[in-house]
Amino acid sequence: MPTALPMHAPEKPRHGEPCNGCGYCCASEVCDVGRAMHGDVPAPCPSMAWGDGRFVCNAVRMADELGPVYSLALRLKMGVGLGCDSDDPPPPPPEPKKRKGK
Ligand code: SF4
Ligand code: SF4
Repeated sequence: MPTALPMHAPEKPRHGEPCNGCGYCCASEVCDVGRAMHGDVPAPCPSMAWGDGRFVCNAVRMADELGPVYSLALRLKMGVGLGCDSDDPPPPPPEPKKRKGK
C-alpha cells in the first residue's frame, strides 16, 4: 500500500482506464526503471515528482530530454499511454453491523 499521497492528488482510476497521474503505483512499488536508477529502495519511488496537478516520472522527463529515441524506448518499456496498469486497491472492510438495542 502506498504511503500518504497529497490530498489534492487525483483519485486512482480503475485498472485499464486512462492514467491520470494519481501516483498510487509509484507510491506503492518502485518499478524496474526506478530500481535501476535508485537501487533497492522502498516505495515511494524517489523519481516521483509533482507538477501540473499530477505526479510525473523524472525518468521519463530525463529520457524526453535525451531525445526521441530514448523517450520512445522508455515509454514503450513503461507502457505509457496504455492506461492504468496498477491493481485496484482492495475495498475497505464493511462497517460492523450495529446490534439492535445498542
Ligand atoms: S498508472 Fe494508474 S496508479 Fe499509476 S499514476 Fe497512472 S492512474 Fe495512477
Ligand atoms: S521510475 Fe518512474 S514509473 Fe518507475 S516507479 Fe519511479 S516514478 Fe514510477
